[in-house]
Amino acid sequence: MAAELTDEKTISEIARHYRAILELIGEDPSREGLLKTPERAARALAFATRGYRQNINDVIHEALFENENGRQLVIVRDIEFYSLCEHHILPFFGSVSIGYLPGKKIVGLSKIARIVDMYARRLQVQERLTRQLADVLMETLDAEGVIVCAEARHLCMAMRGVQKQEASTVTFSAAGVLKDDEALRQEFFASIRK
Ligand code: ZN
Repeated sequence: MAAELTDEKTISEIARHYRAILELIGEDPSREGLLKTPERAARALAFATRGYRQNINDVIHEALFENENGRQLVIVRDIEFYSLCEHHILPFFGSVSIGYLPGKKIVGLSKIARIVDMYARRLQVQERLTRQLADVLMETLDAEGVIVCAEARHLCMAMRGVQKQEASTVTFSAAGVLKDDEALRQEFFASIRK
């Protein structure tokens, strides 16, 4: 857990830059309401990017189990995630659903949510997040196939009026047999449909 934390020296360095940014946008960082803002913003950014300081082995940490259910699709629906778009450093957030066809191993369900968090908590683009999740689950679980579907709202689009506020972006990625096994893909999409 401790490895995820940003050290205090880095926090105060980020805060120093935020103070400069406040001045550059025409604010007065010494007014009362903003006195603690640079440090708070630095901690918020460190939290929103903590995925850089996590690694998959620590996250999974012995939560791999023997697959006793044979060749059956495992589906985890609607895992909430929060990320930052790497083009504007503004939030995008939504939910991701994951299906995998296990080989010999399955993983604890709560770990899947932690893996999503690990890849979301960094600067991302939604397409890459989706693909990374498919790839890392494929590799870590030695699965036969993985399929990932993410749906998110991007504040960089909503705030700048590029897109209607309610619009969301859907991406998906598949690996292994889930790339082209139509029956399994249908099973996945039917089960995540709302
Ligand atoms: Zn953006």
